[in-house]
Amino acid sequence: MTVRGLFSSRVAASAQPSAMPRIAVIGRGFSGMMTAIALMKTVRTPFHLQLFDPNSTVSGGQALASGHSSEILNSRVRDLSVSSGDADDFNDWLCANAAFRTAVPAAIPGFQQIFVPKSIFSDYVYERFSEALAARRDITVQVSNEPVLGVRRSHGSRFLVESASASNPLFDTVILATGYGIGNPQLQATGPADLSSPVRARRLVARPHTVLLGSGLRVVDRLLQMRESGYNGQITIISKHGFLPQSHTRNNADPVFPADEMPTRLSGIVRFIRQACREAEAAGQNWQSVMNGLRKHARSLWRALPAREKQQFNRHLRAIYDSHRNRLPEALHVRLRRELSEGNTLLRRGQVVRVTPTGIVMKPVGRTDEEPVYAGQIIDCRCQAPDLDTPLMRSLIDSRLAMPDELHLGLAVSATGELVVDDRATEGLFAIGPLGLGSLPDIDLVPEIVTQAYATAEGISARFYPQCQAV
Ligand SMILES: Cc1cc2nc3c(=O)[nH]c(=O)nc-3n(C[C@H](O)[C@H](O)[C@H](O)COP(=O)(O)OP(=O)(O)OC[C@H]3O[C@@H](n4cnc5c(N)ncnc54)[C@H](O)[C@@H]3O)c2cc1C
Repeated sequence: MTVRGLFSSRVAASAQPSAMPRIAVIGRGFSGMMTAIALMKTVRTPFHLQLFDPNSTVSGGQALASGHSSEILNSRVRDLSVSSGDADDFNDWLCANAAFRTAVPAAIPGFQQIFVPKSIFSDYVYERFSEALAARRDITVQVSNEPVLGVRRSHGSRFLVESASASNPLFDTVILATGYGIGNPQLQATGPADLSSPVRARRLVARPHTVLLGSGLRVVDRLLQMRESGYNGQITIISKHGFLPQSHTRNNADPVFPADEMPTRLSGIVRFIRQACREAEAAGQNWQSVMNGLRKHARSLWRALPAREKQQFNRHLRAIYDSHRNRLPEALHVRLRRELSEGNTLLRRGQVVRVTPTGIVMKPVGRTDEEPVYAGQIIDCRCQAPDLDTPLMRSLIDSRLAMPDELHLGLAVSATGELVVDDRATEGLFAIGPLGLGSLPDIDLVPEIVTQAYATAEGISARFYPQCQAV
């Protein structure tokens, strides 16, 4: 992408980085790139922006990086605009893209309702980044291909960003966009581990067998990728709760939600939503519209829940909520259902107890005994919460610049991205995206990340550079 060239050339721009406010963004996945776009479009005065990530390919993180051009995003075009206040921006970009229009000529007048491959969304994000950068001759952007190992206060209200490089630079503002961490370990494929088990490795199944762990979009992505690339062995999906992603509808599923006052207790909320879905279906709408409507209320509902009920939600309801909010395009859902009905792919509910030299041992739901499952390959597609034990997270938590949210799913974060410690915002320190999932429902999804990135950029503009006006 052109953006890679832009990165290095603009580092040598004529503005003097040391005299300008300095902003660090840690992580160059979607959240980091989105934050950079929002800053460039919102903070009007000159500034120096440094983007840290050991992933030197600027891959765009998990949602955008894809080895398969056929991999489809699970959100409609209408929900993927990276422009604040212009929901049609992605659609307009597609309409202006001659190659795309040739490939998909039938979508007239627009593409808002369709699902596109990740690679196309990635191109769009990079192009908007390049344009935002090209429009700002007054800023400098620098890319550092190192992991950040720590952030601490220094020189009063500034931050020292520690990496393996000899110079640990100072910043006025630091934005964490570290998502699911470095290397996305949950997506690693391994053979059965050679642990201390006395079982000798041998072929225990008649034909190739792969175990996929998890139940979200990553599992479906991996399953369909394997089939596309010709794998015809047995696949077993092992999921704790057994809820695979539901399907989008063919129609728009515009958000609907009852205007009635919502209950504030978890059990009442669940009943309310079920009833709303039933009523929507009876009125010729669909439950997907209600789930889309619910997203507009999720934050206030979540904030009002007592900690104990948040924990209950996390233990018992999060998996089912996720399977209804992270939906598959209909065509992919049909393929998933076909896979499961043909018997070559099996969904099993249970927990993995341990990995063995020949597969795994699981504890199926409803049984007290353990069961060995033999497999040649185990692929962990589970969605792990961000790791709070990394050196970076430890440095923040130990120095009280950040604290875990009450569920320990990530860091306590405000809607505008400020890190919060004991109800007080840490000035100059922000987190965008999945790190805030314990504080803000759905903050791992593109529309919510976009909104938060602009809110953060506006906060930075107003708070630290009050002379700025929005561009
Ligand atoms: C398969 C899949 C499909 C999805 N589909 C959709 C969809 O259709 N619609 C939707 O709305 N959402 C979707 N999402 C969700 C959403 O887009 C992701 O949650 C979002 O992309 C997260 O991006 P991120 O940049 O925060 O995190 P990540 O992608 O995890 O990127 C984080 C980056 O930070 C870097 N990093 C981590 N620690 C450090 C450190 N210490 N120092 C320097 N760098 C560091 C990592 O190397 C990485 O590059 C999908 C997610 C997945 C996984």
